[in-house]
Amino acid sequence: MAASDLPPLRDVIKRYGLSARKGLGQHFLLDTNLTQRIVRAAGDLTGRHVIEIGPGPGGLTRALLDSPAECIYAIEKDRRCLDALGDLKSRYGDRLQVIEGDGLEIDIPNIVQGPRKIVANLPYNVATPMLLRWLRDATAFEAMTLMFQTEVADRLVGVPRTKAYGRLSVITQWLCTVTKAFNVSKDAFTPPPKVSSTVVTLTPRSEPVAPAEWTDIETVTAAAFGQRRKMLRSSLKSLGIDPKLAGVVETARAEELSVAEFCALARLLPHTDD
Ligand code: SAM
Repeated sequence: MAASDLPPLRDVIKRYGLSARKGLGQHFLLDTNLTQRIVRAAGDLTGRHVIEIGPGPGGLTRALLDSPAECIYAIEKDRRCLDALGDLKSRYGDRLQVIEGDGLEIDIPNIVQGPRKIVANLPYNVATPMLLRWLRDATAFEAMTLMFQTEVADRLVGVPRTKAYGRLSVITQWLCTVTKAFNVSKDAFTPPPKVSSTVVTLTPRSEPVAPAEWTDIETVTAAAFGQRRKMLRSSLKSLGIDPKLAGVVETARAEELSVAEFCALARLLPHTDD
């Protein structure tokens, strides 16, 4: 039976008492056109194992179940929402796996077989740490189609010499190609958040832009962008590396460097086993 035959989401919210909890970033999407649009932005889901973090009352989950995805793994922290997903579970059986847990902690590749795509309207308060967690194992995922607050989406796609370009841009683009799919107004959510939102698709690269260790990229970008107005010779001084050895002009500022240049700087960091 199609998801359109299910009870309206407003009724589900009422029946299960899903008053929105701010601490869990609960802003629900009830508009079917919008949830279908997010699913379309995720590309071909045929045969894919799709992970949805935070299904809430199940609006996006319904749209995913209407797609040709092989199986949907809905990971939710709020027990009330798990109960509300019971109807969907009994209708779709094993094609919907409802998992009670914290999306920040669950080791997704360990419990979900490939090919994997993540599709989610993320809880904003933990969206960035969640993304960073998945990026550490980026090639485990074929793609991620995620709703972020627009300010975070701007940072994800940020390019050098712009205000939005920073650590998150470098780390993300080092491992993925990133595209903005579309913006979503605050009013599309129940209850509306304070800021607008944007759906972003991240496609992990088969190889990073250039070789570097994750912790070294973190260290170099933290130092460089921690003092983004300073020249690199000053902001990287505490790391004891000479930007010139990476072919980087020492008078440049963090926001002028490409991702590949950050990788070159990261490779200069000494390791205890060097
Ligand atoms: N997907 C639903 C929708 O689009 O209407 C709800 C999206 S709402 C922005 C975020 C959802 O993530 C909520 O259902 C919330 O309970 C859940 N959530 C918050 N923190 C979580 C966490 N750490 N792990 C899993 N789910 C979480």
